[in-house]
Amino acid sequence: MLNSKIIERDLSVLWHPCTQMKDHETLPLIPIRRAEGVWLEDFEGKRYIDAISSWWVNLLGHANPRINAAIRDQLENLEHVILAGFSHEPVIKLSERLIEMTPPYFTRCFYADNGSAGIEVALKMSFHYWRNQGQTQKTKFVTLQDSYHGETLGALAVGDVALYKETYAPLLMETLIAPSPAGCYAESGESYEDYARRQFEQMAVLLEQYANEIAAVIVEPLVQCAGGMRMYHPVYLRLLREVCDYYKVHLIADEMAVGFGRTGTMFACEQANIVADFLCLSKGLTGGYLPLAVVLTGEEIYQAFYDDYTSLKAFLHSHSYTANPLACRAALASLEILAEDKVIENNHKLAQVMAEVTQSLREHPHVGEVRQQGMILAIEMFKDKAKKEPYPWQERRGLRVYEYALDKGALLRPLGNVIYFMPPYVITPAQIRQLAAIAEEGINRATEN
Ligand SMILES: *Cc1c(COP(=O)(O)O)cnc(C)c1O
Repeated sequence: MLNSKIIERDLSVLWHPCTQMKDHETLPLIPIRRAEGVWLEDFEGKRYIDAISSWWVNLLGHANPRINAAIRDQLENLEHVILAGFSHEPVIKLSERLIEMTPPYFTRCFYADNGSAGIEVALKMSFHYWRNQGQTQKTKFVTLQDSYHGETLGALAVGDVALYKETYAPLLMETLIAPSPAGCYAESGESYEDYARRQFEQMAVLLEQYANEIAAVIVEPLVQCAGGMRMYHPVYLRLLREVCDYYKVHLIADEMAVGFGRTGTMFACEQANIVADFLCLSKGLTGGYLPLAVVLTGEEIYQAFYDDYTSLKAFLHSHSYTANPLACRAALASLEILAEDKVIENNHKLAQVMAEVTQSLREHPHVGEVRQQGMILAIEMFKDKAKKEPYPWQERRGLRVYEYALDKGALLRPLGNVIYFMPPYVITPAQIRQLAAIAEEGINRATEN
């Protein structure tokens, strides 16, 4: 079978996500027939290393035999059932497991069926908690510059990536935006920590000024992924936790992209030694198999909704596929592998290899920064390295790297001019070296004129 036949059929009936479809007049679509481990294979047998874990969801490789077996087993018993008024063992076990592996504060799991929906849950729950407490004036949310929390209208409103947000601005609730703590913006010579501390001052002012109207601050702990893999020092989270406590504002940790070992610890918040009021998980939760999201919270918040039906305090939010049993079994299998195989410990070695093989890129005349947090490594290209002057976005330099990498057998989908590795944890040191070589040559070519 030829790729071209499949592509033709695809392009006559599909509308792809996050894509200007006209690009496909020149940019080939890649139809995938099968996948295994880090490898994706197209219809002509060409293989690609999935260096971005298929949009950051895959943790333990494609077609992982243990996750496959868990889903097959579940399929024989129960594929899905309504979760309102009904329950099933996979969701109970998964909730027990999540509560056991997170700080003692977390005692309740509320499920949704994708990440954006999970963010909507956290936002509504925070607002609704304050309302149930008689604090109806707490209607605002604070977010960080460059943050990303999904694409549905509520999630988009608390994000700050202009490319996705600007068009829909007239439809979105207003949010307060605090300046970025990300070290890539620091003055030369200023440390990530000093910059985070300095930037925090403006967050503190915002909270002081509006605390009475603010329900929650929402952050992506340590790495703002979709905003360009921008990383910041954990001290920012520590300061934020203190100030949120002081002003009685919730802290929502969106660990959808960074949870489950991505940043080097099971959860990114651990590195700041803080506990959020709401912890949002998705993406890697099921090992990248099936859509599922969960919002964990504590007993005090849960109890604020617990009352006679006629008090109308209940959280009446739902999604059709809430806590789908197949997805829950995939999640349980994935969590079991993470624990049994000491995956996060082993990742430290892989992260070390990623650092080593990209060392030479730091000297590249058009690479402004190589930054890393655990199993995420990002390389930012600049037109003028010294001035950190970006290439005009219209030149789509990142896309050139993408096309070169595809040709060489790697899926390196950039974010603008940021090329990054966010591979499944089953990648080998040799495959990391191969990726780095492809990225380096791709960057050479993309920046040579
Ligand atoms: C991907 C992502 C989301 C949204 O999840 P979807 O399942 O794509 O809707 C929310 N927050 C963060 C930090 C993400 O990376």
